[in-house]
Amino acid sequence: MKYLVVLLIALVVLWRIRSKAQAPEAPPIQERAEAGPKTVEMHACTHCGLHMPFSDMVTGTRGRYCSAGHRALAEH
Ligand SMILES: [Zn+2]
Repeated sequence: MKYLVVLLIALVVLWRIRSKAQAPEAPPIQERAEAGPKTVEMHACTHCGLHMPFSDMVTGTRGRYCSAGHRALAEH
């Protein structure tokens, strides 16, 4: 009976070690929030109205465009 108790304790300890090892190390919630998408300022193309990030747009004399082609179409 004594060995049965020892065996039971050993099994519980082993189970706990195994379950800890199997659990993937999840990154902290704070770290996930920082890695999330940034709020990008979106603007519409003056020629076609397509919304895209402000930094990716082509600046023309009459406005901002989604591409150099649309700038050329709108300003020439
Ligand atoms: Zn456009």
